[in-house]
Amino acid sequence: MDTRDHEIHFDVAVLGSGPGGYTAAFRAADLGKKTVLIERYPQLGGVCLNVGCIPSKALLHVAKVVCEAAEIKECGVLFDAPKINHQHLRKWVDKVIGQLTGGLAAIAKQRGVEVITGVGQFTSSDAINVVDESSSSRVYFRDAIIAAGSRPASLPFLPDDPRIVDSTGALSLEQIPKRLLIIGGGIIGLELATVYHELGTAVTIVEILDSLIAEADTDIVKPLTSRVKKKYENILLNTKVISIDADKEELTVEFENSEGKIIQNFDMILAAVGRIPNGDFVNAKAAGVIVDKRGFIPVDAQQRTNVDGIYAIGDITGHPMLAHRATHQGKVAAEVVSGIKSGFDTSIIPSVAYTDPEIAWVGVTEKDAKRSGLAVKKSVFPWRASGRALSMSRPEGITKLLFDPESDRLIGAGIAGPNAGELIAEAALAIEMGSDAEDLALTVHAHPTLSETINFAAEVYQGTVTDLYIPRKPVDRKR
Ligand code: NAD
Repeated sequence: MDTRDHEIHFDVAVLGSGPGGYTAAFRAADLGKKTVLIERYPQLGGVCLNVGCIPSKALLHVAKVVCEAAEIKECGVLFDAPKINHQHLRKWVDKVIGQLTGGLAAIAKQRGVEVITGVGQFTSSDAINVVDESSSSRVYFRDAIIAAGSRPASLPFLPDDPRIVDSTGALSLEQIPKRLLIIGGGIIGLELATVYHELGTAVTIVEILDSLIAEADTDIVKPLTSRVKKKYENILLNTKVISIDADKEELTVEFENSEGKIIQNFDMILAAVGRIPNGDFVNAKAAGVIVDKRGFIPVDAQQRTNVDGIYAIGDITGHPMLAHRATHQGKVAAEVVSGIKSGFDTSIIPSVAYTDPEIAWVGVTEKDAKRSGLAVKKSVFPWRASGRALSMSRPEGITKLLFDPESDRLIGAGIAGPNAGELIAEAALAIEMGSDAEDLALTVHAHPTLSETINFAAEVYQGTVTDLYIPRKPVDRKR
């Protein structure tokens, strides 16, 4: 080990190089700050690029092609069963990751952002110690932005066994099991279920709550639940895992629900039961930064922590733990540090499950409205009336819009169906722009597209839709 403890001085130190961290560092550099980006791993990009969003989307692309090739037989086209070369697949995913992380390193260089590899921990309110295997350095900063992210949550009763993995382990495709149990029916569990099912694995999902993706509205999750119920070996809702016995041959799992106890064997288990913030990893105490009991760092709309000159962004600051929230917060923090009046003051953050069908929602949900007693008026356009959806053999989708009944403004949207993750962007923009039902109904959408379903759902609200027959209501003459 090189015991040199050299000192370096920067205007801005960013701790963590995920989408939030690299965005903050790059924006700060663009605004003229001498910036350092500290990352414990040799590749930039954090969980999202290396072991999260990007590898999962690459694998989901493969899963989609495999699935569509099989389902096209309904149209009279028959392909042979695919032969999957897992090693080749892994290499391809690594190549995709490498292109992105390599690109980030190059962009950091172009911008003059110094990258230091090593574990960074605060030693005071103006310094971070960075240690790697061969050296250590002390980074002094005027401002610091903590972007240290989150990690998979674990369950206390899980035995320590290589066949029991988290999302990182599942994405590495080290094992392609015959029978996989996924604990947790949230976004990670369902995306990885999609991948493993298409790779030939029999998938069981166990979820403690009464629904998959329980935070989203039931009607937009229903098309997904109906489809995966037919495909997967088992979906156990309202069910607890009581114990797991890892013997040499198999993993024996005991479940319990209202019908009693069930015992089943699996050869791999994925625990996807949420993520926990890394607030306890950065020695925030030495800087005087408050970390709450759950590991989150409280911040204000300018991303300021309780300590002057120290900011935090991304998963470490709370839910929703989504890369696109982190990147926007990263820009805000870099701008505030640079004296620009900036703030993160939106709750319009789209959520997307890249499952098949995709499930996407933004703004207010019906569940939120019910919880908070908010009045909403809903309109739904079923995709079975969309020419484009039918021509793709995917009539099960729905597009739902939620309006403020007083102003007719759009306040929430939920979409289920292929490409829902792309379609939701229009609803997000419409909400941010204060659009009302008329704006959406009178905007000409190309035909035949899935985007028309947003147009049609607004027309349903207006009572002007012609692509559906909705019995006329008596005219309200008071309006
Ligand atoms: P999650 O919180 O979305 O889902 C976890 C699920 O596990 C919940 O439904 C919960 O009820 C269930 N659960 C918890 N303990 C359980 C138990 N003992 N037995 C059975 N079920 C149990 O968490 P996740 O899916 O792990 O995702 C973590 C985070 O990462 C989320 O914030 C998510 O938004 C984010 N993420 C986003 C994307 C995306 O944007 N597409 C993809 C992956 C992850």
